Amino acid sequence: MVAPTQNIKTLLLDGYLDEPSCLGVPPYISPHARYLYGALEAGGIPEEMIDYLTADSYRNIKDISKLEEYELIIILAGTTVPGHYLGGQPLSLAEIKELGQSLKYPTRVLAGPITLVWQDLPGHKILDENYDIITGELAPLEIYNRLKDQVNQPGIKINNQAEIASAISDWAITGSRIFKDHPGYPKLVAELETFRGCPRSKHCEFCSEQLKEIHYQRKPEAIRAEVKAIAATGVHNYRLGCQTDLLAYPWLEELYSGIREADPDLEVLHLDNINPGPLGRKDSTEARRLLNIICKYNTPGDVAAFGLESADPEVLKVNNIDTNPDLTFRAIERINEIGGQRVDGIPKLLPGLNFLAGLKGERKETYEYNLQYLRKIKEAGLMLRRINIRQVNPLGSYQASKVDSRRFKEFKRQVNEEINQPMLKQVFPRGTIIRGLWPEIKKGRLTYGRRPGSYPILVGIPGDHLNKDTLSVQVIDHGYRSITALPYPFYIDQASLIELEQIPGFGKKRAEKILLARPKSLQELSELIGSGFPLEDWQDIFKFSP
Ligand code: SF4
Repeated sequence: MVAPTQNIKTLLLDGYLDEPSCLGVPPYISPHARYLYGALEAGGIPEEMIDYLTADSYRNIKDISKLEEYELIIILAGTTVPGHYLGGQPLSLAEIKELGQSLKYPTRVLAGPITLVWQDLPGHKILDENYDIITGELAPLEIYNRLKDQVNQPGIKINNQAEIASAISDWAITGSRIFKDHPGYPKLVAELETFRGCPRSKHCEFCSEQLKEIHYQRKPEAIRAEVKAIAATGVHNYRLGCQTDLLAYPWLEELYSGIREADPDLEVLHLDNINPGPLGRKDSTEARRLLNIICKYNTPGDVAAFGLESADPEVLKVNNIDTNPDLTFRAIERINEIGGQRVDGIPKLLPGLNFLAGLKGERKETYEYNLQYLRKIKEAGLMLRRINIRQVNPLGSYQASKVDSRRFKEFKRQVNEEINQPMLKQVFPRGTIIRGLWPEIKKGRLTYGRRPGSYPILVGIPGDHLNKDTLSVQVIDHGYRSITALPYPFYIDQASLIELEQIPGFGKKRAEKILLARPKSLQELSELIGSGFPLEDWQDIFKFSP
């Protein structure tokens, strides 16, 4: 960075980040991308000199050499938790290396969670040779300080948490400009940060949060101002996803009520990350009070992801995990009690449960502990919205166990058959209407879509619906991790063959008969399809066009 700051033509390339406490893969936009933009501007680079590009838009550039026009290219990247993404693909290590090696003129800066682990990555020397790697853990702060240093102005001290929190809140407001430059605009979810760092003094052994040394807490008024700025751009979906445990935030009522006030057109307000240990340990009145606050202001379909990681007490102990199966069970009960109530047919807030395979100390019995635990939850009639089973991402010197792939697959199969499918039937019974679905991708005969928000259920809808902005659908069938639904309302006399064939138990012959005859009443339909199909169970779903 040698030019006067107002002349630095800058590209902020959002390679998307995903870490235990923050998600920035579309439709999510991470707060860090917004902070970075704001820090660049606050550092003296004018708005018209800063471009924002996402990983997916970058891939559409046919000729990388066009990027030589920039003086400064900042890549924000790093997925420190494994994930499968539908809405966009994070910038891969190969792409980052290629970009670094291809460009000669711009100063190339690498920022984001990737810089916490870059030295452990294969071929990391290429990164070292071609990038200025911001190892200072909070890239927006580091970049701001460097820009200020260039014009001999004071920066922000990294030990001044209040000053950092205040600067970040200003940058978040300026940074809301990037929403309109995102190819997904306005169908985006703003990930909001309440605090940074994990409050535990000794961390879970496998977790990358322990690498963060800068901790701060943002005030509810700052988050409210940020939401107001985001709402002004036309985006009205929010997730309080950027913190390690939302219930550890001290001003929950002010936070939620402030967000509602700041965006009266709010469409989605969800959360992520509640630590089940502290929730299970809380006195029950206090636990209820906190959960009631969330359920008063949030929108239905919200999910609190619980990192139990293993139901094996030995594994929990050697990894220093802050919960145990009993505490987590109590936390699951508490969320079900308050959040299990349905609004528009969808539970307000349900727990999710995360398991990690390959943790230190994992043994033969671990999978049996996990399975028995899930059976216990199911038998108690408790709902889980989502069970996430992943393999641990080895971090630094962490001694991960070798995962027995046969046993791992078998565990996933058992969970799918015994738990996931019955849970989906319980959470989204046949006939449930799901509104506001965003169609995302077509595969084979189905269009897949999800609602914006926390861990939304994947819904397959027969036919091609990609040209629609949003969809209302009605659930007809349940897979292990997705459900099938028909467009709502479903006029059976106007249905397509693909739609009719997806109705469980209907079969091709019945579908063809209906397509030819186009019955106009239940009576006509009943005569047409004959016995053997429980029409009485479908009367709420099959409608006839007026
Ligand atoms: S409780 Fe454990 S897993 Fe959660 S953020 Fe803290 S260290 Fe990481």
